[in-house]
Amino acid sequence: MKLHPVALNGCTEYDPDIIAEIIENQLSGAGVTAEMLRGKKIVIKPNLVMNKKPDFSATTHPAVIAGAARALRSIGAGELLLAESSGGPYTESTIRLHYNGCGMKEMAQQENIILNYNTASSVMQFSSGAACRSFNVIQPIYDADVIVNICKLKTHSLTKMSCGVKNLYGVIPGTEKVEMHARFSRIESFTGMLCDLAQMFTENKTVITICDGICGMEGNGPTGGTPREYGVLMTSLSPFALDLAAEYLLGFAGTVPTVQASIKRELCPDDITKLIIIGDDYKKHITSDVVPPDTSRRSILRDFPDLFGGRLVRFLEPRPKINQKKCIGCGVCAASCPKRTISIREKDGKKQLKIQDKSCIRCYCCQEMCPKNAVKIQKNLILRLVR
Ligand code: SF4
Ligand code: SF4
Repeated sequence: MKLHPVALNGCTEYDPDIIAEIIENQLSGAGVTAEMLRGKKIVIKPNLVMNKKPDFSATTHPAVIAGAARALRSIGAGELLLAESSGGPYTESTIRLHYNGCGMKEMAQQENIILNYNTASSVMQFSSGAACRSFNVIQPIYDADVIVNICKLKTHSLTKMSCGVKNLYGVIPGTEKVEMHARFSRIESFTGMLCDLAQMFTENKTVITICDGICGMEGNGPTGGTPREYGVLMTSLSPFALDLAAEYLLGFAGTVPTVQASIKRELCPDDITKLIIIGDDYKKHITSDVVPPDTSRRSILRDFPDLFGGRLVRFLEPRPKINQKKCIGCGVCAASCPKRTISIREKDGKKQLKIQDKSCIRCYCCQEMCPKNAVKIQKNLILRLVR
C-alpha cells in the first residue's frame, strides 16, 4: 500500500484568498507537482447533489473551488473544466439550474473556469473490480488526466459519511445512479462498488481530493441535515486516506462503511495514527458531538444473526416515511426510487405519496432527493431498546 499524506489545516472562513493560500501549501505537502498538472486535462468535480444555495451546506462552497483553482494554477495547471452529474436527470437544463443555484456560474466567470454542458458519457473498464467491473461515467471525467475531487464533509443516511470516495459517485450520469442503487441494493455491495469506482480512478488517473470541511453537515445528510462548522480543509492524493482522517474528525472512527471497506482492501491504513498527516494536529479538529443520521442505528444490525432469510434484519432496519403535511407532491422521490416503490394518488385535490414497504431496499434516495425534507426515517422501537 502506498501511503499518501493527508494535508489538514484549520480554516473557518469562505474567503477564496485565504483558502487559496492554504490549498497551495496543502497541494505541495500532499505531493502534487507541476509535472502532474502542466499540459494535462484537468476536471474539477465538486459536490452539487442538489440545487441548493451554498449556505445550505449540501454542496461544495464556490469559495473553495475558487481557492483550489487559484492554487492549482499557481502550481502549473492551465485550463480548468468543472463537471458534475447531480441527483436527478443529467440534461443541459438541469446542469444549468444546478450551476446557477449552487453559485458555480458567477464563481466560474470570475475564476475563468469552464463549465461543462456536455451530457455524453463513456464506459470505463476496471477488470480488477471486486463488486463492479465497468462504469459509465460522464465524458469530461472519462477524458480527464487529472480529477480534482472537491467534496463536502457531510453525514449521509446510507453511507453514514459523505467525503472523498462517495463524492466520486457523482460521475455516474444522472438517473443511472438510481439504477446502480437497485443493482447494489445492500450497503455492503454498494460500498464495494464505490470503492471499485474510486480505485479505478486512482489507478488510471491522478486524483486530487480536496475536502470542504469549513462548514459541513450533520444529522440527516447529505441534503436533509443541518449545517455544522467543522473548520477544516484537507487535501490528499488518496481519497481513501483522506476519508479515514474525516471519519476520525467526525467522531465516527471505525463505523463508516466506505472507510471500513477501503481498510479491508488495504487502500488505506486501519488507524489514523498510521497516516502521514501534514499541517495541524488532527486531534485539534475532532468534533465529538456530531449528530449522526437517523439511519446510523442500522450499523448494529451487522452483528445480528441472519435469521428467517434476512427478514429479521429487514424488519428492524430504519424505514423511510413520508410526512404528508410537509410533502408538496412534486414526485421527485418517486422518480429517484430505484425500486419504483413510491406510488402517487390524488385525494381531495392533493397528491398523496405512499411507500410500498415490501419492496423498499432502504437506500434512502427518496430522503436524499426530497426538496422539502418531507421524508423522515422511522426507527424501529425494538432496535432503539436494544441500543
Ligand atoms: S420529493 Fe418530497 S415533497 Fe416531493 S413528493 Fe416526495 S416526499 Fe413529497
Ligand atoms: S422508498 Fe426510498 S428508501 Fe425505499 S427503495 Fe425507494 S428510494 Fe430507496
